[in-house]
Amino acid sequence: MQFRNPPNVAKLAENKPHGTRLKYKAGCRCLICRAANARYETSRARASSSGNWNGLVPAEAARKHILKLSRRGVGRRAIAAASDVAERVISRIRSGRQSNVRKSTEDKLLAVSDQAQSDGALIPAHGARKQIKALLADGFTKAELARRLGYRSPSLQIGKTRIQARTAARIDRLFRVLMKE
Ligand SMILES: [Zn+2]
Repeated sequence: MQFRNPPNVAKLAENKPHGTRLKYKAGCRCLICRAANARYETSRARASSSGNWNGLVPAEAARKHILKLSRRGVGRRAIAAASDVAERVISRIRSGRQSNVRKSTEDKLLAVSDQAQSDGALIPAHGARKQIKALLADGFTKAELARRLGYRSPSLQIGKTRIQARTAARIDRLFRVLMKE
């Protein structure tokens, strides 16, 4: 996969306009890049402070759900792809080594149904669509994103409501490389 080596941020930012998060990440500290970054930080801080309570809850419900999925043929990898919870966390919960989890982690795991048989399983497209929207707002073109996602055609075909877990995972990796530290 082409994502093994994260793209060089400076190179990616070369042709981007000022006033984008990516340009800031690449080291530009001009006024509008700083403003773009401040906007990003503010909205992220707001999201985390206004969000739902995300304290620790006992891992038991998540563990039972993982075991139930496992009996139905949904393995750790498929659960990870469908929930965006790391495989090692799923292992620890499953084995009982981890006795508490974040509420958000529990929510994500409980939301996985036994439809998640493989990377080809369909999952809600909402998260991926949000990430694509953020990338487009930051100056990437659809053609460029399609190319980076390994699509043959330059059109960005993302399902309206559901997409394959594999595609969502690719978009998430790209998003994390381009938009986060
Ligand atoms: Zn700048």
